[in-house]
Amino acid sequence: MNTNNNILEQEEEFRDSVATITKEGKRNYIHPKKPKGRLYNLRTWFTVFYLIVFFGLPFIKVNGEPLMMFNFLERKFVLFGVVFWPQDFFIFGIGMLAFIVFIILFTVVFGRVFCGWACPQTIFMEMIFRKIEYWIDGDSTKQMQLRKMPWNSFKIKKRVIKFIIFYAISFIIANFFLAYIIGMDKLLEYVSHPAQSIGTFISLMIFTTIFFFVYWWFREQVCIVVCPYGRLQGVLLDRNSIVVAYDYERGEPRGKLTKKTIEEETHKGDCVDCFACVRVCPTGIDIRNGTQLECVNCTACIDACDAIMTSVHKPVGLIRYASENSIKEKKKLVFNRRIKAYSSVLLLLISLLAFLLISRTDLDATLMRTAGMTYTTLPDGRISNLYNLKLANKTHQDIPITLKLENVPGEIELIATKTALIKKSDYTHLQFFVKLKREDIKNWKTQLDIGLYDAGKKVKTIRAKFIGPEVYN
Ligand code: SF4
Ligand code: SF4
Repeated sequence: MNTNNNILEQEEEFRDSVATITKEGKRNYIHPKKPKGRLYNLRTWFTVFYLIVFFGLPFIKVNGEPLMMFNFLERKFVLFGVVFWPQDFFIFGIGMLAFIVFIILFTVVFGRVFCGWACPQTIFMEMIFRKIEYWIDGDSTKQMQLRKMPWNSFKIKKRVIKFIIFYAISFIIANFFLAYIIGMDKLLEYVSHPAQSIGTFISLMIFTTIFFFVYWWFREQVCIVVCPYGRLQGVLLDRNSIVVAYDYERGEPRGKLTKKTIEEETHKGDCVDCFACVRVCPTGIDIRNGTQLECVNCTACIDACDAIMTSVHKPVGLIRYASENSIKEKKKLVFNRRIKAYSSVLLLLISLLAFLLISRTDLDATLMRTAGMTYTTLPDGRISNLYNLKLANKTHQDIPITLKLENVPGEIELIATKTALIKKSDYTHLQFFVKLKREDIKNWKTQLDIGLYDAGKKVKTIRAKFIGPEVYN
């Protein structure tokens, strides 16, 4: 009994420590061995495509607007050339909800595939900065030697080169992230006149330094400690989720492959306990301990194990994309109740989003009577009310708007302007008086229908209440 408990304790020991922290509580810097193999090559090609898209998108324009822009500062968002203003916030909110449910559904079925293949953190860290590091410092053994080496001219030269390249790339990345926020046109304007935009330049350098810090030092800690998506895995994954997994049914009992074990046929499982999968892991874990929060599904261990399996003439795939049920019970993916429920919610949200987008108008108007004012009696005896009108033009053309009273005879007088020109993809704020004759006012509150016309064509009708004296006629 005691022996069994001891074995169990040893097997569970990995849970008591974190690979990236030493027993003394200091940072254990991971130097993974350079991965190579089929999946790594595929990921490299995918990265090339990803980077072309990432660095190319800010240059693409549709109808004079960026293809994508998320200007939180001016509360202006552009998706595929369509401008969204704060008035469209509910569409944006529903869109975000649909996106989150999609991510959840995707994770329930495919685990952390996104982390390994498409997360900017993994792409930049593993496929850009790490590759440069291998090129400058060499593979893991050389990196460790360099780390332990006292400071000399060789080490200083390597570190300075790496520092300059890492900082330059961080600067480029920070610029492009900013382009997604303010647009490429504004960014180029700032870059060509840095003296006039010193505030932007300082923020840019702060972001560059943060990126540099992440890729130089913080690295896998972003995925392990900071990323909320990573921490959600515990509740999103189930036994049917497809993750990078070790086939313990096939691999155990593990053991070194020696002449003796081969001759005596004592080697039962396929795992030869070579630790190749651990050595390539950028988060320092042993995937043979099962699915762990630290695993970003980078597939490096799959390639490493496949190479070992090939060399010992065993089938590849001891570590592969698989679900717990497919390993334990050899079951295929089941479309279970949870997946069905998420799919229904997702379908509902996408339908709602489609409806909102189709019924979205080109001109948004919010009309309010000026707060704190009732009515004014004019010298000619007419009664006037003051209104505030906010107009958002979501098209790519300027709209000259004229206002007309539709249901009551009277006059509309714009303040400080004769015509209301709303620039393309912009919004404007107008103030105007509505003046009615006393005999046209039947109640102390009269409903007004105000038509908004663009070159004689009505584009919208807005309603307002007109306040008059208590009793007339
Ligand atoms: S366990 Fe494998 S897939 Fe997961 S992070 Fe490590 S190397 Fe990548
Ligand atoms: S690389 Fe494969 S054979 Fe080697 S320790 Fe890992 S799982 Fe076992």
